[in-house]
Amino acid sequence: MTPGVRPLIAGNWKMHGLRADGSALARAVAEGAGGGAGAAELLVCPPFTLLREVGAALEGGPVAVGAQDCHAAAKGAHTGDVSAPMLRDAGARFVILGHSERRADHGEGDAAVLAKAEAAIAAGLVPVVCVGESEGERVAGDAEAVVTRQLDGSLPEAFAASGGVVAYEPVWAIGTGRTPTEADIAAMHAAIRARLRARFGEAGGRLRILYGGSVKPANAAPILALENVDGALVGGASLVAADFLAIAAAV
Ligand code: PEP
Repeated sequence: MTPGVRPLIAGNWKMHGLRADGSALARAVAEGAGGGAGAAELLVCPPFTLLREVGAALEGGPVAVGAQDCHAAAKGAHTGDVSAPMLRDAGARFVILGHSERRADHGEGDAAVLAKAEAAIAAGLVPVVCVGESEGERVAGDAEAVVTRQLDGSLPEAFAASGGVVAYEPVWAIGTGRTPTEADIAAMHAAIRARLRARFGEAGGRLRILYGGSVKPANAAPILALENVDGALVGGASLVAADFLAIAAAV
């Protein structure tokens, strides 16, 4: 936790949910969040198709809505893509960018993530930029170098002013039930904090750094208590309202 910074618990629903499921899940999260007086800010990121539905279910409440990707252009001949202004228009306030599944499935590199983050900020969205090493990179002792390179290449100049969020997600911990040791998480978050300060000055000291990768109610509290861990990006457990809320309550 960073003193004076409100943690963010963000749910990444990935490619899950039809309209009825999405609305029901969003309503259950909103009910559990009550008036939003909990220690953490809550965010859910459904698939594009559910943005309006989920936005309607959450309207007027404390739970924010985000998307999982955007195109770098505001509009144009890009079949199948969705732009940042379209997401904003559909009610999104945040957008996850550079998730390792996008980097792997769609060949997105740091330059692409940077361009998307610039587009997101220009459209008034808060970018949640994901970074993280593969298992091979960690075993080789390259984890910090990889994450530093991703940060340097993916974060635009306006990142700090936009209130941008960094999510440290070791690729090998996503959806596997495995997590780094608390010492390894703390060390990486400290390295990320140092990089953010070096790049953005004092503002870099207040940007939220989330941990992501197999966060569950059972392991959330000790992870969220670590220095420089300002919340979590939650995949699988965000699909069960009670689990997502229990993670938020562990802050
Ligand atoms: C994710 O995909 O961002 C993630 C952290 O997934 P999980 O919580 O399922 O590991």
